[in-house]
Amino acid sequence: MVDFLQAASRLRKRIDPLSLQFRLTVGITAVSILGLGSLAALTSWQMYQTLVNSHRQGAVNIIERFPRDVTLYTEMVPLEVGLKKAIDNLATPNLFIWVNRSDGTVLAQSETLKGPYMNIPAQLMAGLEMPSQPLVATVNERYLILSSSPLKAKGKILGQLNVAQDITSDQVQLMIMVRNLGIICISVIIAITVVIALYVERSLQPLRQMSQMAAAISANDLGQVQMHLEHPPSEVKELAQTFNTMLLRLSAAWEQQRQFVGNVSHELRTPLTIVHGYLQSTLRRGGNLTEPQREALQIASSEANRTIRLLQDLLELARADSGIMHFQLKPLVLNDLVVEVVGMAKQFSDQEIIIDAAPFLVEVIADENRLKQVLLNLIANALKYSDPSQPVTVMFIQTDEEVIIQVSDRGQGIPLQQQTRIFERFYRVDEARARSSNRSSLDLSGGYGLGLSIVKTLVEGMGGRVAVRSKVGEGSMFTVTLPAQSPNP
Ligand code: ADP
Repeated sequence: MVDFLQAASRLRKRIDPLSLQFRLTVGITAVSILGLGSLAALTSWQMYQTLVNSHRQGAVNIIERFPRDVTLYTEMVPLEVGLKKAIDNLATPNLFIWVNRSDGTVLAQSETLKGPYMNIPAQLMAGLEMPSQPLVATVNERYLILSSSPLKAKGKILGQLNVAQDITSDQVQLMIMVRNLGIICISVIIAITVVIALYVERSLQPLRQMSQMAAAISANDLGQVQMHLEHPPSEVKELAQTFNTMLLRLSAAWEQQRQFVGNVSHELRTPLTIVHGYLQSTLRRGGNLTEPQREALQIASSEANRTIRLLQDLLELARADSGIMHFQLKPLVLNDLVVEVVGMAKQFSDQEIIIDAAPFLVEVIADENRLKQVLLNLIANALKYSDPSQPVTVMFIQTDEEVIIQVSDRGQGIPLQQQTRIFERFYRVDEARARSSNRSSLDLSGGYGLGLSIVKTLVEGMGGRVAVRSKVGEGSMFTVTLPAQSPNP
């Protein structure tokens, strides 16, 4: 029972009423039900008509023949005997013949009417309510073809000739045939539905393949991916070709944009570095500057510095996008590296940074400078988005084949729906909140929403992954996982 319920719920999940597969299957099935149903109904009706018409014709034949027989017999024997002989001549087990006078008394009747087999109601026996044209009637739950006609012989009306033929067994046979026809139709419709569902599913396979391929395309492999489908229908083939052309155009546009960002960042970085240098030397040597002038120069210098870092970040991402970012992966002692990075971060902030180190040496395989940049970015964010009175913790451990580094803070946290987006370029949780953050004391990050996308690019470039767990008001924990040098001791 449980299995059946589970299978039913799985089937319900697989059936999507809005899908093309569902609509085509239902449409074609409805047409086959209509077609086969009408064919079955028409065939049944025609079989019934053929049955009834042949019996009606039999009754008509008897009514036509009977007066001739009576005339022949009455030339040799008295009328009543002649009538009886003519009736016996025609009688069969399912046929009832009787002749009655106009007052209703029966002149002669077939033997079949005498036995218990058939009880014709008195009304009919008296000739009342007998139809002049053959018709089907239900008498005592049996189907009869009833017909009657005035009996004329030797120019005289002798009475009324009544004929009743029992067609119940033929009718039952017909019902069985109609029922079998119905069962066959339903089975054929079920088989057609299954075959059509499978056929439609197969026909839509190239579309599904296309959608899977399209979902796997990232900005980086726009130029390399082309849709190659197995035996696609012409329409899907055409769609795939159009899609391929679009991919090439997108790739060219994307490449152009990447080059543009790279070139602009490169061209702007040099003059800005010179400007920053001049501002710094003016500040150093400007003993006769007034306080407002010094403050203005300091703001200009710090903004120039911030913009230089933004350009560096952009250059870094442009390099990663075009695949020319090279990583020098080698075994590093993480314990030393973390101490060094934390020392660097402490130069820019008085906030407490706790190192929760493993009691043994942890060796990670990474690019030294890139890993430092990753940790510096994460620690900078932790300091930036938490209260100066709250400590930031850097913890690392080694599992079987991996090294896990966690940077946690007890800061403002990140809302759940934004946790997947913070690794996107230029994405900031709350522009106002981020800009007003503790920036002056912390010159570690550009503050343009690029820091975490660089972290992700670098970590993934070193064969690792980065994730976040955060709760608003309680703090955030960023986890970097990288390959370990040697198995866990
Ligand atoms: P930004 O330069 O703005 O810090 P990032 O890419 O480093 O850019 O971070 C993106 C956004 O993620 C930030 O604007 C901030 O809102 C959020 N964020 C990053 N780190 C933390 C953290 N430790 N605590 C709370 N929010 C964070």
